[in-house]
Amino acid sequence: MGADRRCRFVKLLLLAAIAMAALVSGGGWRSDAGRGSVVLGLPAAAAPSADYEAQVGRNAAREMERQHGLCTDAALNARVARLAAVIHKASGCATPVRIRILNSREPNGVALPGGYIYLTRGLLRLLPEDELLCAALAHEIAHIALGHMTQMLREREAAQAGAARSTESAGGAEGGTGAPAGNAMHAREKEADQAAARYLCIANIDPRLIVRLLARLSEQPELDASASATHPTWEERIRSVSAYLNSPQFQAEMASWAPFQRQQAGTPPQ
Ligand SMILES: [Zn+2]
Repeated sequence: MGADRRCRFVKLLLLAAIAMAALVSGGGWRSDAGRGSVVLGLPAAAAPSADYEAQVGRNAAREMERQHGLCTDAALNARVARLAAVIHKASGCATPVRIRILNSREPNGVALPGGYIYLTRGLLRLLPEDELLCAALAHEIAHIALGHMTQMLREREAAQAGAARSTESAGGAEGGTGAPAGNAMHAREKEADQAAARYLCIANIDPRLIVRLLARLSEQPELDASASATHPTWEERIRSVSAYLNSPQFQAEMASWAPFQRQQAGTPPQ
């Protein structure tokens, strides 16, 4: 796999973040109390308003669709919608999700603010088994259910405010990019994998399939995450979620669900 394809993949991976960054630098957040717009210096505890988040998501979604085009294959769309409904229900996520398929051969999935999720045709081709596609959907829905998009917007705004302040005090020197710290993004990926395992369990799907999904993705040379600032390596994610599946915490939360009991009995995942 050439550097060109890797480069395109990284571009797609980061597209949402780039689109968000462009919007955040041009707008402000409203406090929960709705007392008007604050561009800089928002208290750390305040969250972006739902309207603002939806607007960021809409813009990023439009850009995604402009770049890649939407897949109009009715059977593929129906498959994704059917499985997504099962996982969304299992997640208990209060935000409605809008899942669309991009006409891209690069295997990828992206969650955006406002409940948008994009999967590529390349990813669907890689995951012909419904259970593995459910695992991928569970990971993306987890980003939304866990509020990761809100956290990213908050961090980006705080980083940009800090960069603007340091630029002022440095008399116009270059500031930072406003990108959230890599370790926070890595932690969110692992958190989404863990939540995905729980959603699968609740949907009566073997939670170990999240490990199988990561293993499948790790076999794709173009998905080499070793140099990614936003994602841990596949090995790291597999190690992390495997440890979680065997943890007392997972046991305490999932003990009453049949797929967990099958896991404990050592029944191989289907
Ligand atoms: Zn993710």
